[in-house]
Amino acid sequence: MTDAASLLYDLKGKRVWVAGHKGMVGSALMRRLAEEDCTILTVDRGKLDLRRQDLVECWFNEHKPDAVILAAAKVGGIQANRSLPAEFLYDNLMIEANIINGAYQAGVGKLLFLGSSCIYPRDILVPISEEHLLTGPLETTNQCYAIAKIAGIKLCQAYQEQYQKNFISVMPTNLYGPGDNFHPEYSHVPAALLRRIHEAKMAKNKSVIVWGTGTPRREFLHVDDMADACVFLMKHYSEKGPINVGTGSDLAIADFVSVLQDVVGYHCAVEFNHEMPDGSPRKILDVSKINNLGWTAKIPIKDGLRKYYQWFLENIDHLRK
Ligand code: GDP
Repeated sequence: MTDAASLLYDLKGKRVWVAGHKGMVGSALMRRLAEEDCTILTVDRGKLDLRRQDLVECWFNEHKPDAVILAAAKVGGIQANRSLPAEFLYDNLMIEANIINGAYQAGVGKLLFLGSSCIYPRDILVPISEEHLLTGPLETTNQCYAIAKIAGIKLCQAYQEQYQKNFISVMPTNLYGPGDNFHPEYSHVPAALLRRIHEAKMAKNKSVIVWGTGTPRREFLHVDDMADACVFLMKHYSEKGPINVGTGSDLAIADFVSVLQDVVGYHCAVEFNHEMPDGSPRKILDVSKINNLGWTAKIPIKDGLRKYYQWFLENIDHLRK
């Protein structure tokens, strides 16, 4: 990591609450923050329901974090978003509102809110730069999630403008990595296809099913790169607007399947199920803003996917689903 940008917030000696520390991003943050000279605070879901304002406020009063990374969210792939719009909107709105306002009330010095690339309009020129927020209609398959995340960005901006709080928003592209959710229907595309190709290999199937047409393009970032970007941005970013995090390159789902087949070591025929949705045609992010600050993604996709498959094989008996 280059620390070319000036240090705006020093994590040294700080008490940092990672909200959502058991999720894929949260656990990557736990690994990355272990390299920093700070104290990490966590609380399990069973002990604190982040959708409950009173409980979240009590937690802030009791534990007094200096900084917060808000990685807790209701997340899922295209089908989970279509099937559970109420939870994707309600849970995410409540979690964000409680933690961002709670952080303001408790005098937290720095907060990083994690959004998503689906907050940007569907039919927009790619790569998508931060200025495109709220310039057109959203993709319908994940509109509820996107609206909740846009509300979180606006909350951070509002507390910056009105109360001069150093609350920032970070928009990751599609993520994959250890701790991913491998639910056959509700997962994101990397987990769904890695698992399906692996299962096809085990059963020696002649083909594997892939949803949609295979033509949509996606950009994939390893979650360890994402955690590294978050720590970098905690230290070096304090603007009001969101900042994108990605690799700068994307590929068609059909080509992604070939890469996964290489990684798993099983090349069978691919059947595209056109009954399932394609979602956004393209959503690669413009990452020049974070690149210009001095951060770039380090993990090449093939290396990242090899590590991902290794992790999957080692954890196959107790995967999150
Ligand atoms: P998105 O990037 O927000 O649309 O969410 P996903 O990570 O779920 O990726 C969805 C893209 O991958 C769409 O173009 C899907 O048609 C395609 N896809 C192909 N097979 C699968 C699958 O088995 N699961 C999921 N989630 N998506 C798939």
